[in-house]
Amino acid sequence: MPAFSNAMEVFRLLDKSNCGRCGEKTCLAFAGAVFLGRRGLSECPSVPAETIASFGAAPPAPPPDDREAYIRSFSQKVAGLDLEEAARRLGADFSGGRLTLKVLGKDVGVDQSGRIYSDIHQNPWVVVPFLMYVLEGRGAVPTGSWVSLRELKDGYEYYPLFEERCDKVFKKVADVYPDLFDDMAHLFGGKPVPALFRADISVVLHPFPRLPLMVCYWKPEDGMDSDFHVFFDETADRNLDIRSLFTLGAGIAQMFTKIAARHGFKVD
Ligand code: SF4
Repeated sequence: MPAFSNAMEVFRLLDKSNCGRCGEKTCLAFAGAVFLGRRGLSECPSVPAETIASFGAAPPAPPPDDREAYIRSFSQKVAGLDLEEAARRLGADFSGGRLTLKVLGKDVGVDQSGRIYSDIHQNPWVVVPFLMYVLEGRGAVPTGSWVSLRELKDGYEYYPLFEERCDKVFKKVADVYPDLFDDMAHLFGGKPVPALFRADISVVLHPFPRLPLMVCYWKPEDGMDSDFHVFFDETADRNLDIRSLFTLGAGIAQMFTKIAARHGFKVD
């Protein structure tokens, strides 16, 4: 996937109307923000999905030397939040001035100053969606009706990217790393999938208590390639915005790529 070497390479993909729908005053400002990694190409509604997919323009990973600042820019927003009310809204625990909830089966908390407490590595791809879940999640209770990201609010735009950064990455891991689903079940509290939706292998993960993901893998068979898809509960877009859902899916896929690598399985 090509990377941008300067902002003008991004600008040339835009329609130059300066319509402002991306929240920037001009297309050039947006192009600069994409190049610097602050925005994703998919945030301009005028860029066709094929272009977005071919440029792999995911919402940006924070630059490695700026990860703490990136997380801080979100955690500071928690400072003005009534955490006790947020805990009630989300079905989370609140004690000692700290809101705590299960992230992939592990306790992650945040206090009134925005400080994060966690037993697991603070990966920004997961921590930032966690903060968005606390800040904006409505606490909608899952209905058990599974949909693809494309069917969620604003999901159509993000779907090509989601396929690239989540489904396809997961598929590569599942193709080479036979313990992937055992890890999901044992390390991250994965649960069995209702029989109606079962693929060759499938697991329900809970990145957040009211935000389940169903991951499904079909093994190669009769000349057909393997396949992998992630599904969300139909309420997911009420608990997390589409950009955070994307970030979360891509982040979890990246996490399992690293786990596979640690066990000696190389994922191309
Ligand atoms: S939404 Fe797209 S076309 Fe409109 S100003 Fe932003 S970058 Fe330009």
